[in-house]
Amino acid sequence: MRLELRTATAEDTRAVGSAVGSLLRIGDAVALSGDLGAGKTTFVQGAARALGFAGHVVSPTFTLVREYRGRLPVFHVDVYRLERVQDVLDLDLDEMLSEGVVLVEWGDAVEGLLPEDHLSVALTSPGTDEARRLVLQGAGPSWEVRWSRLEDATAAWRAAA
Ligand code: ADP
Ligand code: MG
Repeated sequence: MRLELRTATAEDTRAVGSAVGSLLRIGDAVALSGDLGAGKTTFVQGAARALGFAGHVVSPTFTLVREYRGRLPVFHVDVYRLERVQDVLDLDLDEMLSEGVVLVEWGDAVEGLLPEDHLSVALTSPGTDEARRLVLQGAGPSWEVRWSRLEDATAAWRAAA
């Protein structure tokens, strides 16, 4: 399961985040990867909005985890500064997953620690303008069930094949 999207502006990336967010439920993990400035936090802003959180969403780079109380608890994790796998384990992702949804920035490093069922979102900046390329990959039966809904919800940003 793979979707390739293109967003022209930050608001587009927020809208894709919202489309994903509206499909999330307790126990879901989303791993976001991409260089600094790629738009990972921007994506989380949209997802948090769709999950009913109206407040400010900023990168938890220094706090590692921020929790937003929307319709569901949303845990926004940034593990960029963590150097050891143990530091990530200490965050107790399982506890967060039992309470709400977890979105992890710099997900590459932690993908092996996430449940088998998860969504990964890789963001890149292919040119010099504001456009971003987003590759969404779903893993596990729960994404199988939701995949056609995700395709429909993101159709407006589908990259030309
Ligand atoms: P990251 O969390 O990956 O470091 P941020 O989301 O914090 O990235 O920053 C992305 C920056 O790029 C923001 O300032 C955002 O406004 C800007 N931007 C411009 N175009 C886009 C786009 N298409 N998608 C996402 N962000 C964009
Ligand atoms: Mg960020």
